[in-house]
Amino acid sequence: MKKMIGKLRHGRTARWGRALVVMGSLVGAVMGMTGCSESDRPLEPPVRFEGDIFGTFYQVTIMDPLTQGESLDLEAGFKAELEDVDQAMSTYRDDSELIAFNEAPLEEWQPLSNELIEVLAISQSVAEASHGAFDITVGDLVNLWSFGPGARPEEVPADDVLAEQLAQVGFDAVEVDTQNMQARRTRDVFVDLSGVAKGHATDRVAAYLDQQGIEHYLVNLGGDLIARGLRDEEEQTPWRIGIEVPEDGQQRAQHIIPLESMSVATSGDYRHYFEVDGKRFSHTIDPRTGRPVTHQVASTSVFHPSNAWADAWATALLVVGEQDAMQMAIENNLKALLLVREGDHWRSVASPEFVNYFGEALVEELGIDQLPGSQLTGSPLPGSPLPGSPLPGSPLPGSPLPASSLQTSMPGEQPVTGE
Ligand code: ADP
Ligand code: MG
Repeated sequence: MKKMIGKLRHGRTARWGRALVVMGSLVGAVMGMTGCSESDRPLEPPVRFEGDIFGTFYQVTIMDPLTQGESLDLEAGFKAELEDVDQAMSTYRDDSELIAFNEAPLEEWQPLSNELIEVLAISQSVAEASHGAFDITVGDLVNLWSFGPGARPEEVPADDVLAEQLAQVGFDAVEVDTQNMQARRTRDVFVDLSGVAKGHATDRVAAYLDQQGIEHYLVNLGGDLIARGLRDEEEQTPWRIGIEVPEDGQQRAQHIIPLESMSVATSGDYRHYFEVDGKRFSHTIDPRTGRPVTHQVASTSVFHPSNAWADAWATALLVVGEQDAMQMAIENNLKALLLVREGDHWRSVASPEFVNYFGEALVEELGIDQLPGSQLTGSPLPGSPLPGSPLPGSPLPGSPLPASSLQTSMPGEQPVTGE
């Protein structure tokens, strides 16, 4: 078996990428979840659960009335869902189902769990629709570039090693048989589901909360989110989420967007990267070149009812760059929002479907949200308005694109380092 697998056995923490979106739209008290034994005691919403998982964080916020006992049960329940996903799809634990699949002999069909088959099938659909921009067979390249479980030095790999690995890559090397719930590898690729598993896990937590009859919640798993119901039912206030300024070390919202029964995932090149000689290498690999993506698109956010699809599509759009991303968004009816670097500015470009879904009013609100950074500092939830209040600021001039696309620009707080 490959060397990488050996290294996996020494893998430390499960780790599926980092938050790229500043989440949350809560103001007001957050209830503590510990130290109470009166299980019937009602808790005052919002009830928020927080913790670490997959090398990132989770936040689950519930607005439904809950007792202390119910809240503890819910927490145990959704944590079990997260654990299940980790067991199935982590490349950072040697006992996961995915690692077993990666170690199985080539060509032989492997019976797999419904869950793994579902995620493999979603991955292959997005791979096809994105013409291979999203490609779960990039695992060895991800590792080669030091972003995988095998702890490699942060350096640029040699051309010949890259070429050798790249020759194997291609999503046709994995076949998924959804009828018989089995899959196989036909070439020696390392399947990496990190670009979709976090979104899938978010879906699982949401499905669990739905089953438990919870109606108003926000799940944030490392920046991949699902909102359901309302932030404040009485006031009819939706959840609001922030799309992060695409700059490392910043936790400010570039845009604040109301979300109702919808999910969003964001991919970006500004968080998970290393630098050599001033050049930035991010963890999103272009499967056409075997190298980290290098263009001016700093982040891509995709809104989709399923967060697994959103997650995979966000990566695909980041790979291909602005023009092709918009083309793909149109072809696949994606609600996409891109932040594009332009000198010390970021330009925001939204797909037609985004504008159709969120409406012209939000187009204006997005302008409103593009305030000079100085007005947004000091809080991880900048601009989070009080329930019912209008979003802050005043519109900056925008330049509408044809086909009702949205395109606006704002001065950056500081120059953004290019790639
Ligand atoms: P982001 O939020 O930036 O998309 P994710 O953790 O969701 O981050 O996905 C990035 C991960 O996906 C990488 O760390 C890598 O494991 C994997 N990956 C990198 N490039 C691709 C690609 N072109 N297609 C599919 N998966 C990829
Ligand atoms: Mg992602």
